[in-house]
Amino acid sequence: MKCKICGNKAVIKLRAHNIALCEKDYIAFFEKRVINAIKKYKMFDRNSKILVAVSGGKDSLSVWELLLSKGYKADGLYIDLGITEYSEVSKSKCMNFAKSRNVKLEIVKVKDYFGGLSVPEIAKRIRRKTCSVCGLIKRYIMNRSALEGGYDIIVTGHNLDDEVSTLFGNMIHWQVEYLARQFPIMDKNHERMVTKAKPFVTSTEREVAAYALIKGIDYIEEECPFSVGATSLFYKKILNELEKEQPGSKLRFLSGFYENSDIFQKFRKDLKLKSCERCGYPTTEDVCSFCKLRERTNNIVEKS
Ligand code: AMP
Ligand code: ZN
Repeated sequence: MKCKICGNKAVIKLRAHNIALCEKDYIAFFEKRVINAIKKYKMFDRNSKILVAVSGGKDSLSVWELLLSKGYKADGLYIDLGITEYSEVSKSKCMNFAKSRNVKLEIVKVKDYFGGLSVPEIAKRIRRKTCSVCGLIKRYIMNRSALEGGYDIIVTGHNLDDEVSTLFGNMIHWQVEYLARQFPIMDKNHERMVTKAKPFVTSTEREVAAYALIKGIDYIEEECPFSVGATSLFYKKILNELEKEQPGSKLRFLSGFYENSDIFQKFRKDLKLKSCERCGYPTTEDVCSFCKLRERTNNIVEKS
């Protein structure tokens, strides 16, 4: 197998793009696709002050690496969820990355907001699913840290497989309101909201893993222990079967959806966002769901 560009030995074959590439040309190919997505969806530019939300996994550390290597100004944010060993290992991967590149990493502990409780403990107390509590807390802390730090944009490591599985789920259940909002960039619609962007939306999980491997990025390979059995993983399995039979179908499905996104705009409910009475961050009600969660958890802690 030879590299289509230089003729040297290829290290990866990409059936979706009908191309085999050597290490050097693969990196150039991968970077170009990401930069194209950043420009196409007008995510940010080299003057933007970027905060990359890093979990210690391959996607978010790779997106940070790519942005730094291309001259973007990007600091990191790690949210310590308190998921025992998993959080300790992922935190140290982020810290080592930041130290070796001499870049700033902010660490925010969920326990500091919830009287010493970790995400699984919070979920258990209020009898809700760990992943939904975790998602709510991460979204809030990402936004608040970015705003308080004066950042223009939050970047996450969501890749094509993540996005296409979300799209598939939203279509299966005809979640038209979610479909109206699913896009590589989410603009702010409140003064205390920071724009979010996903530069890896056109890169598959396998492509990101190859980039991380070639670049020698040290990341946590284990998945979060709570993700076992997640519906999104089941959708990914189905979509990978489809991809095997029809290479390129994941990318076509997602980019076709983005190109036709106006079809769903009529379902968009642009709720007027208010400011939370407790914290001032955006909410559709009087008190935001994060503050409500804190209050509920505190009540239960005090009672027990
Ligand atoms: P997930 O919600 O686990 O699918 O992760 C999606 C994206 O959210 C990752 O690519 C990261 O950019 C970000 N993220 C996930 N977990 C954390 C964390 N503990 N701290 C900061 N960012 C995170
Ligand atoms: Zn609030």
